[in-house]
Amino acid sequence: MSSSIQKKLKKREISFETALQSLVNEAKSVDLELIDCELCTGFFRQVRDLTDVPPVIPLLLWQNCYYLGCPIEVAAPEVRKLSDRLASEIKIIPIDESSYRNWFRLQKLNSTKLSSADAVNPLTGESEQEDISKITELHLAQTDNQIDRIKAIISGALRNRASDIHLEPTAAGLRVRYRIDGILRPITTLPLEVSRRVVVSLKVMCGMDISDSRRPQDGRIGEKYLDKQQEEKGLDLRVSTLPCVSGQKGEAGEKAVLRLLKQENSFKTIDDLGFSPQTLTIYKHWLEQPQGIIVFTGPTGSGKTSTLYTSLQAISTDSVNIITVEDPVEYVLPGITQTQVNEMAGMTFAAGLRAILRQDPDIIMMGEIRDEETAETAIRAALTGHLVLTTLHTNDAAGAIPRLKDIGPDPGLISDALLGVVAQRLVRRVCPHCSEPYSPTESDLKTLGLRLEESNAHAWRHGCGCPKCFHSGYLGREAIIELLNVDDTIRQIIHEGSTIQLNQYLDESNFVSFRTAAISKVLAGITTVEEIRRVLPYSALARKVSTDQRFPSLTLVNAS
Ligand SMILES: [Zn+2]
Repeated sequence: MSSSIQKKLKKREISFETALQSLVNEAKSVDLELIDCELCTGFFRQVRDLTDVPPVIPLLLWQNCYYLGCPIEVAAPEVRKLSDRLASEIKIIPIDESSYRNWFRLQKLNSTKLSSADAVNPLTGESEQEDISKITELHLAQTDNQIDRIKAIISGALRNRASDIHLEPTAAGLRVRYRIDGILRPITTLPLEVSRRVVVSLKVMCGMDISDSRRPQDGRIGEKYLDKQQEEKGLDLRVSTLPCVSGQKGEAGEKAVLRLLKQENSFKTIDDLGFSPQTLTIYKHWLEQPQGIIVFTGPTGSGKTSTLYTSLQAISTDSVNIITVEDPVEYVLPGITQTQVNEMAGMTFAAGLRAILRQDPDIIMMGEIRDEETAETAIRAALTGHLVLTTLHTNDAAGAIPRLKDIGPDPGLISDALLGVVAQRLVRRVCPHCSEPYSPTESDLKTLGLRLEESNAHAWRHGCGCPKCFHSGYLGREAIIELLNVDDTIRQIIHEGSTIQLNQYLDESNFVSFRTAAISKVLAGITTVEEIRRVLPYSALARKVSTDQRFPSLTLVNAS
């Protein structure tokens, strides 16, 4: 840490003019790292009541005169009042607003306490998006030990809705990145001399073996943080390390990834997940069924866990018994009995499921179906008065049916038990703060397989990038949902038909495919074609077009 200008001035190492010049440059911007913390504390202790004090940063105290940086004009009587209260002279130094805002935030950030509270503009009282890198860097500059550094990084991640933190050793130092809305964002690079120590401290914090840096390790940290309402909430951090080449002359280093799991889930309601009105009606109808199985599919990070938890929360009432078997339990849900798989202790998915069936359940959530026994038991449960929710790893909704059959249960039972399949991907939403109308290009229309007149072109939007969205043009995400509703025809096809028949039927019925769902989101200006291309499996957009072209005269194959 650099020694404060105030101290240097006091020791007469520099002149007053130099001191002021190094604190506030010609553009009126303040070098916040040079501000003296003790001076600030002393000043505000003396002022006591802050309600009628103008927004000021104590810059210097010199010959019984406080030099206060202030981004607004202060009237003479106000200055006099403050001067009387402090029994000192007061000189107001004009500074720019952003310096004040950044300084104000730093005061609010307590490095020993994690917080996800929004940055508030002290001049307007409105909450605003911070410049993540800048604030995190300033905050890091104020900490002088590794644990505070790690906490500063975690706080920054919490405030910016990051799901993961990546710490990577590079030749320049420890690179810090946050994953926000599914995309990694570079935040800062910690100096080379602390880079190793930060990783070691992190390993200490999560109980890893620090003497071993040649083996991948994983650990957990349980923390508390303050939410936006300043209430204390639990935070679970899953930490994993991986030995790697650090980039510094091929030296060995360790990369660490922290996954942030807020114990209090911040799930929305089912209505906000991204279902279209049409699919939402069908989906809610499934959830009201007394028995049957609903399958959720999608790769890791597709948001299926969120949909699953939100749905469980929606159907959890005092009159039903909901039990889950999960690996791991990611969020704790009130009113629901959650159990965790523990292979070592013999608590496998299959054993867990058998055990919870003896617990008089109404609704069962199986984290995953992996083997025949679990599949068979789950399907039998779904046929005997239980609503079962589970996940499978398949590319799309239709893929869940052959996958289930592959795992082994009798197709007749599957067709009787299955209510439907939800497949989903998360797309980023166009940033509302910088969105503007956008005219679809020829290639956009081609991707979606639309003609200009079908494209609702006046409603398309894209973000042009602003500080609130990291200049990406996107802010927040929502799901694109493909819903396969098992009707009589599909039941027949599951029982005795083929995948080809299933796909043909879906193409010709009003199946809400990824493509249909994606098109409606672009046409409503919620997201962009670019984003859909990034997120959806290639086949999802290609399928409809190719089927039309290859089988132009195909007629509906009705297996019944
Ligand atoms: Zn924006």
